[in-house]
Amino acid sequence: MSLSKKIKEGNRPFIIAGPCSAESEQQTISVCQEIAKNNSAQMLRAGIWKPRTRPGCFEGVGEEGLEWIVNAGKLTNLPTTIEVAKRSHVELALKAGISSLWIGARTTVNPFAVQEIADALKGVNIPVMIKNPVNPDLSLWLGAFERFEKVGITDLTAIHRGFSVYNHRKYRNVPSWELPIALKEKRSQTPIICDPSHISGKRELLFEVSQKAMDLNFDGLMIETHPDPDNAWSDSNQQVTPAGLKEILDAIIFRSQQVSTDVASQIDEIREKVGDVDDQLFELLYERMKFSEQVGQLKRDNNITILQEEHWTKIINNRLNNSDEYRLTPVFVRQFMDAIHQESIRHQTAIMNPKKKRSDDAKSD
Ligand code: PEP
Ligand code: MN
Repeated sequence: MSLSKKIKEGNRPFIIAGPCSAESEQQTISVCQEIAKNNSAQMLRAGIWKPRTRPGCFEGVGEEGLEWIVNAGKLTNLPTTIEVAKRSHVELALKAGISSLWIGARTTVNPFAVQEIADALKGVNIPVMIKNPVNPDLSLWLGAFERFEKVGITDLTAIHRGFSVYNHRKYRNVPSWELPIALKEKRSQTPIICDPSHISGKRELLFEVSQKAMDLNFDGLMIETHPDPDNAWSDSNQQVTPAGLKEILDAIIFRSQQVSTDVASQIDEIREKVGDVDDQLFELLYERMKFSEQVGQLKRDNNITILQEEHWTKIINNRLNNSDEYRLTPVFVRQFMDAIHQESIRHQTAIMNPKKKRSDDAKSD
């Protein structure tokens, strides 16, 4: 059975664990054996070539580490995966007998690199996992899948590892869950694994992100696991020990998508009410836009600009101050009000600057 089918249809969640980087034979094998002993993973990972942001950091042990992770796989009877970023990595990984490959976030952003890897894999039957690009660009992520499919690699899995932003106070890479959800919509057969390690950047957040991914029905998790995380040569803040990994996995609540008929009918009843409220919301928005248009007519007739900055600042601050009362986050209130405001401006613009008919439009009348 293909790996993607196994991940999609097997028992959830499919766990991939192992160190951020293979550092020594002993470190790689001991941590993988411990993970296997705890029954914590269905696949082992290790970074061999590390794409580091700044030069001078540990850039991976390179080729010699391949044998360590392959041996760890043999000793534990588990399949293995490593990151490849160019043709030479692919060739060495295939020669060493690595079971599957993953494309890192810094590679998915680069169509030349993705194409080079795809070309190197032409005619080879190996599963490939594709991390999201570092920037939140769904097309770029989808494009990488298409490049592999075009050369005949169809055993594909997605890995969601978050998106980089400047100085975020909580995450190393913001999850922007709407992107993996959009990917699921476009590629419903492709399994998707969450990588809470690179999203969170710190081990204290791993559980929270993993639980969220499971609640969103992700198919698995990739969690960096190290025998001595504090002294890891890369990503030390986000790695956990095999015992820490077990603790996280034991604590996750796995909710099912299957619902009993009794619960389903209760949910349906409430959903109907939600639908009614949504109907009211849209009817209210319709009414609201009609008032906006009336204001637009007055502005047009009196030659006043659409945007009245002071007025808008007052409105938005008022709503933001009350967000607690509505039990809404200020971020949501802001986005919601901005969306209404944009739409309202669109309605007023149409009133103030009605599209003039072009002469060739007139001809076809
Ligand atoms: C990794 O998995 O160690 C890694 C480098 O990940 P990413 O491509 O998500 O940064
Ligand atoms: Mn890492």
